Amino acid sequence: MSLLSVHNVAKTFNNHDVIQNLHLSIKEGEFVSVLGPSGSGKSTLFHLIGGLLTPDKGTIHIGDRLINGQKGSISYMPQTPSLFPWRTVLQNVLLGQELQGIKDVVRAKSMIDNAGLGPYVDAYPHELSGGMKQRVAFIRALLSPQKLICLDEPFSALDELTRLEMQKWLLSIWEEHRPTVLFVTHNIEEALFLSDRVVVFSDKPAKVNREFHIPFERPRPEELLLDEEFLLWKKEIYYELKRAGKKA
Ligand code: ADP
Ligand code: MG
Repeated sequence: MSLLSVHNVAKTFNNHDVIQNLHLSIKEGEFVSVLGPSGSGKSTLFHLIGGLLTPDKGTIHIGDRLINGQKGSISYMPQTPSLFPWRTVLQNVLLGQELQGIKDVVRAKSMIDNAGLGPYVDAYPHELSGGMKQRVAFIRALLSPQKLICLDEPFSALDELTRLEMQKWLLSIWEEHRPTVLFVTHNIEEALFLSDRVVVFSDKPAKVNREFHIPFERPRPEELLLDEEFLLWKKEIYYELKRAGKKA
């Protein structure tokens, strides 16, 4: 059974159809990216899955539980890391757990260590770089008890090199823990490098235009980005996005 099933979902804002006939399912342990340009309804999809918005039509299930309009079923990492400035790294990382009444300090500290943030465990967010804040936010999402982690363009504000470092770090963490991830991005290369499956959103109103199953073996080395087959995939998805009436 799928962990996430989005069935025939529609959402309209002020007579403006943003999402229509959207079908999407994700299996446990899968890494799926949704690819589409700015304004195509990607964050809206996350707000629907996270229960911040209720669909006008259709159903959203986590396992066999209907979650239309219900908060708390996913672990959500927004576009900006949104750490609490008055909480230390450790306290921020534990937040998702605390909300559910649990606390695993040992595991949290070990993940902070593995992310190279050991010396910062008691530091405050203003002492961290952008990439470090992202790591903290991601560890928090990983430690939350919800099974589905939704990441909304987490690396879009980072410079190119930091972004690549973060992608590599995310891949290594994902390969170790295999959480179920729904990842939103407008970057074709990023989607290809990270995902088992890439879902391309159609022109507005958004629906899934085409899905690509990405065959590259894991663990995936950085050199994959320059691999000829990788570049062919990049081209194909680029043309798919263009066909959908969009530029990448
Ligand atoms: P993306 O994340 O792909 O950039 P969004 O999901 O944020 O796109 O937005 C998709 C469209 O829906 C945009 O045209 C945006 O202006 C509109 N929109 C998003 N949220 C709201 C809202 N709460 N009220 C009205 N319009 C909204
Ligand atoms: Mg967005």
